[in-house]
Amino acid sequence: MSEHVDTAVRGPQAYAIARQAIEAMESAKVWPTPLNFELWLHYISTPDSPLSQEMRRLLDMHTAFTDAVSESLATEFLPRSRLSEEIRDAGAVLNRELAAVAIAIDKAREIQVQYADTLSDAKVQLNQSVPPNPLVELVGTLSKATRRIQRHTVVLEKRLESSHTEVNKLRTHLEQVRRDAMTDALTNLANRKAFDEKLEALCASVDLTGATISLAVVDIDHFKRFNDTWGHQTGDQVLRYVASAIARITTSTRISARYGGEEFVIAFTEENVAQVEDILNTLRVDIASRALRRRSTNDDLGVVTISTGYATRQPKETPFELMERADAALYVSKRAGRNRTTSAEDAPKPKIVTTV
Ligand code: GH3
Ligand code: MG
Ligand code: MG
Repeated sequence: MSEHVDTAVRGPQAYAIARQAIEAMESAKVWPTPLNFELWLHYISTPDSPLSQEMRRLLDMHTAFTDAVSESLATEFLPRSRLSEEIRDAGAVLNRELAAVAIAIDKAREIQVQYADTLSDAKVQLNQSVPPNPLVELVGTLSKATRRIQRHTVVLEKRLESSHTEVNKLRTHLEQVRRDAMTDALTNLANRKAFDEKLEALCASVDLTGATISLAVVDIDHFKRFNDTWGHQTGDQVLRYVASAIARITTSTRISARYGGEEFVIAFTEENVAQVEDILNTLRVDIASRALRRRSTNDDLGVVTISTGYATRQPKETPFELMERADAALYVSKRAGRNRTTSAEDAPKPKIVTTV
């Protein structure tokens, strides 16, 4: 995996770097989009980083910095899921702070109790002495003040407890926001962002273990026609139907996602090629085996079929390259008449592509 860079450029020098970044973008005829700006900030502030070296190489080759090129640089070199990590950290920091305050209040209360005990001992001893003793009154006043402080400490403790509850609620809420950001709302499967992150992590880990990963792309056949005939809402129900079939074959070692539109992806980490092909064919047959009916009108919608393409990762292959091969295999399934599964082994190799 590429070395990630720190995205925070702060301090007085940040303005100068920002100005240089804009000038450099302008002279390279690159639009100052937020993403390009972030890339160029790194380019200026960390000229020796792998990201800057790659950018220099692309600039030397006069490569146009299209959105796709910038996105792929960001995917490879900028830290992922920054927001979710920050959210997690914020919750943890708050809880740690509250725990520290709770300990301090506890300690204060303990000292107050000891002090109150000392005062009441003193009062008893003074009461036994010969009256009138002016110290008796003084100790009485001090005892009253101590009791007031003790009452105040109890109020503080209660407030602290409710802050704890609030922080925990906030954490749960943030956790939900994080989950939502990783989930496709229509189908409840993971979304593309979540999948990309998991696949990247998986590829990095299997580079160390030598295990294999297979990636399948699943696409609904003639879905545009289905939408045109039955309407978008019924189309959405079909997306849920296909997603639920995919969810049924998803396990902790077999991850899936709605990758976009009517396209799904599944990554297999424990199966060999024959097993992957078997599972995909079972999924395909399962989906095509049910005649669909529209609940509201009882219309017979016929059957829906899927085409799939899959590729088994070669050593050091990037997720992008793996996805490209699985996509090429899917294309073969489509060309061959749909409702079938094709291995990348049986698909023509992608041409050497230059980024444009
Ligand atoms: P092919 O068999 O070659 O895959 O043909 P296709 O019609 O499925 O493929 P195409 O890419 O031409 O059309 C995909 C359609 O998927 C077009 C779009 O309207 C539909 N679609 C994408 N996202 C959604 C969605 O969220 N809901 C619904 N109902 N339809 C969607
Ligand atoms: Mg389709
Ligand atoms: Mg498609």
